[in-house]
Amino acid sequence: MIKSIKGFNDILHVATSTSQPSSYWRRLEGILKEVLDQFGYEEIRLPIVEETQLFARAIGDATDIVEKEMFSFTDKSDPPTPITLRPEGTAGAVRAVIEHNLLRGDSPKLWYMGPMFRYEQPQKGRYRQFHQLGVEAFGSEHVDVEAELIAMTYMMWQRLGIDHELTLEINSLGELEERHAYRAALVEFLTDKKEQLDADSQRRLSTNPLRILDSKDPNTQALLTDAPRLSDFLGEQSRSDFEQLQSYLTALGIDFVINPKLVRGLDYYNKTVFEWVTDKLGSQATVCAGGRYDGLIGQLKSIGQSKKGSDKPVKSDPAVGFAMGLERLLLLVQAVNPMPEAPACDVFVVVHPDLYEQGLIYAQSLRAARLDLRVKMASASSLKSQMKKADKSGAKLTVILAQDEIDSQRISVKDMQTGEQSCHDRLWLHSADNFTVDEIAR
Ligand code: ATP
Ligand code: MG
Repeated sequence: MIKSIKGFNDILHVATSTSQPSSYWRRLEGILKEVLDQFGYEEIRLPIVEETQLFARAIGDATDIVEKEMFSFTDKSDPPTPITLRPEGTAGAVRAVIEHNLLRGDSPKLWYMGPMFRYEQPQKGRYRQFHQLGVEAFGSEHVDVEAELIAMTYMMWQRLGIDHELTLEINSLGELEERHAYRAALVEFLTDKKEQLDADSQRRLSTNPLRILDSKDPNTQALLTDAPRLSDFLGEQSRSDFEQLQSYLTALGIDFVINPKLVRGLDYYNKTVFEWVTDKLGSQATVCAGGRYDGLIGQLKSIGQSKKGSDKPVKSDPAVGFAMGLERLLLLVQAVNPMPEAPACDVFVVVHPDLYEQGLIYAQSLRAARLDLRVKMASASSLKSQMKKADKSGAKLTVILAQDEIDSQRISVKDMQTGEQSCHDRLWLHSADNFTVDEIAR
């Protein structure tokens, strides 16, 4: 038997050991999209595959994602182009914004939803193909954008009934030079303690020292107690922006915790970083994460420039974004505020096999008149076997059409909860206005 690939899960109409039913996904996505619409953000749909160098340059060579989590291949061109299944969406969004010149005179606020791919050890809340909602707001260097994005996520949590389960952590990484100065101080502090660090952190000391701050190793954490603090290296502007963000959040009534060790695993961030975390999902605690990345656009633009041989410095454009993991969000929603079962069917039309054509016309006109109803039929088997299917379908009402009904121009309706059967004028169901059985409306 051919099975699905490890970490790549089916999302079915029913629950599986690795996914909730597709109806839950649709409702979650529906709520998220409503909030995105309320904030006036616009959808983009991007390719799932990009050139490998896009991710290597944007995310950073020394990050977990690029070092070990990417699904990379070469295509069949000559010479072959290295390509990668997207591990995140920001790099592709920035590529698209540059390629289509979307920043000229505009500050687009964009979102995308879809699968991402990372070669990780599958476990609850961590998969090789997973789904993110990503939001990117371009063109503003003001911290109001951070406030707006966080307000948007907070509204999503409220609409999902999980706002009490999530804690907002924020930090400022400062501008690039400030971070570099801090990095040098941190490396100096840790160099003579290198032997006492965990293996990953020893390696990171030369490749990505800031990541040592979020090491899970207790010894490493103990060593960091007296380490220099990032906040002491922030310049005037970084500091005042960070304070402004805090006062916006306070004004909006959004609680937050300053986590001085929050650094994020991607290279492109500067100034604000934030995460929404929960204690309900074990070590897969982060549901949503983001921050400001003012340098990335310039950095990616300069790749093309250097090919053309120009040395002109490339202007960047400020940007802020976040991504949330939809699997983790669904797990959290189901843990604390489960979605009600959606009715799979409102009306089941059972029709005598000889009169199937009449049944088709009837179901079709009912659907046309009542857009809110789910109207199902079985194929033309015996009335008894169709009734069995109606029973299993969860329908509230079953409409029965046999010769008697056709002759009398009436229909029989069975209330599937009470088992009561009644007879009605057929027109009664033909006209939307006269369709008065309110309880079958969802
Ligand atoms: P983690 O620390 O859990 O590995 P991350 O820092 O790698 O997360 P980001 O790159 O910031 O994650 O991605 C944003 C969000 O996408 C995460 O907060 C999480 O909700 C989700 N996510 C990331 N990787 C996975 C995965 N392999 N499976 C499911 N969800 C994921
Ligand atoms: Mg990760």
